Amino acid sequence: MIAKNKWNIDLNDVIAEHQKEFGSWFTELNDFDISKVINKEKERFREFKDRNSKLVSSIIKTGKVEESEMKTLYESKGITIDDIRYQAELEGKKVSLPEKFYTDINKIKLGAEKEDDTEIKGLKETERLFYEESLLEAKAKILKKIKPNLIVLDKTIFYPEMGGQKPDGGTINGIKVIDVQIKDNIIIHLLDQAIKDAVGKTVSLEVDGVRRETLRKHHTATHIVNRAARIVLGDFVYQNGAEKDVDKAHLDITYYDKLSREQLEEIETVANETVSKDLEMTVKLMDRTAAEMKYGMSIYQGGAIPNATLRIVEIAGYDVEACGGLHCHRTGDVNFIKIIKAERIQDGVVRLTFMADKPALKHIQELDNLVKELMELWGVKREEVYKTAERFFSESQHFRELYEKAEAERISASAIASYADPVEIETKLDNLGILMKSLDSIKEQLGNKKVILKAERIGLAYPKSEETKKIMSEKYKEVSEKGNFLFGHD
Ligand SMILES: [Zn+2]
Repeated sequence: MIAKNKWNIDLNDVIAEHQKEFGSWFTELNDFDISKVINKEKERFREFKDRNSKLVSSIIKTGKVEESEMKTLYESKGITIDDIRYQAELEGKKVSLPEKFYTDINKIKLGAEKEDDTEIKGLKETERLFYEESLLEAKAKILKKIKPNLIVLDKTIFYPEMGGQKPDGGTINGIKVIDVQIKDNIIIHLLDQAIKDAVGKTVSLEVDGVRRETLRKHHTATHIVNRAARIVLGDFVYQNGAEKDVDKAHLDITYYDKLSREQLEEIETVANETVSKDLEMTVKLMDRTAAEMKYGMSIYQGGAIPNATLRIVEIAGYDVEACGGLHCHRTGDVNFIKIIKAERIQDGVVRLTFMADKPALKHIQELDNLVKELMELWGVKREEVYKTAERFFSESQHFRELYEKAEAERISASAIASYADPVEIETKLDNLGILMKSLDSIKEQLGNKKVILKAERIGLAYPKSEETKKIMSEKYKEVSEKGNFLFGHD
């Protein structure tokens, strides 16, 4: 916008003015140096422009951008219609652009999520019993069979997939429940096979307690890690998405840069300190306005919630969020949190993948075993593993080079010495460059003699003359059956 309107302003000054104006109301504005964020964004914008301006220029030259092409540019490179229009203006050129592009993009996105919901229309909202956590068994009535294995009940103890938390597992009348989804407050159960009982019949529900427990721990860990990230990185960090599964969970946070190893370790440390403090976690329903007044807007970590009443989840003295998921009662129930990965999944969003409790312990044991195996294999101490690996790597590089040189010399010598034409030589060398160089160097001595190399794992390189090509195509069938390739030279 600044570039487009040719405004002579610096974003940092604008932000500083904002901070002065609003800082007394929103004190969190004063807590961190936003210029770091702004400068990083500016740098990224410049990089983006440098990278894409050539591409945009070449598009402008064609004079027209089709809608499908625009969609690809937008989705794969982040290039917008405005970017193209702006650069065309700069270059003084005309380009025809698709109209109503953004509305179409939104239509595509909405269309993908919209399913046929006539099947559940008019049904009563499912009564949610899953918040009564001790309830792992219950009876319920079948309200509708959408398909023989897809049913709606009057009430359920199965937590459906929502708020990023994966659904409960278990059985209904002994039949395995493989998915539970919620739509317009109606909860739909997908079963492993058809259920015989008719609509109106009462069925027995049983939730898999072990799966539920792990999901609860991973969900709780998400709250803990999210707050830890805000403590370490700054209060401007927000949750952008999350998923809590049984083997691991991930949390997407808004952050302008990639995280350093130190930052990650610090987040992990704060998270685990919170676990060991064994803080109490409470859930209460609160009027929306009262909750916003008391805790501020940061309760909406998972995005805005349109209800008048909010379910407020509080970790005593640590974190408050509006959340509909299932949690532990104390942070200590999580036992342990291990962050296993941090990656930038899009501009300004970092994904933290982590594990809690048993999956976390198992992950560490696996890593530890790997190191122990290397120690045994190499006969070195733990602190020498890395250095040894490094040494092996450079040694193997060195030996490889020696081997390649010697093998290339052997091939050349056998090619010259042999009376056969074509000469066939087998080799394990897979470095095409070395092979060609070595044959080129003895070209004179070979005269018109043809050389065919049967090598492993190299591509098929075609020789110049028709005659050699013919010999090779015959030989090719023979060696390709053995998984080898031919390399011809003339
Ligand atoms: Zn939650």
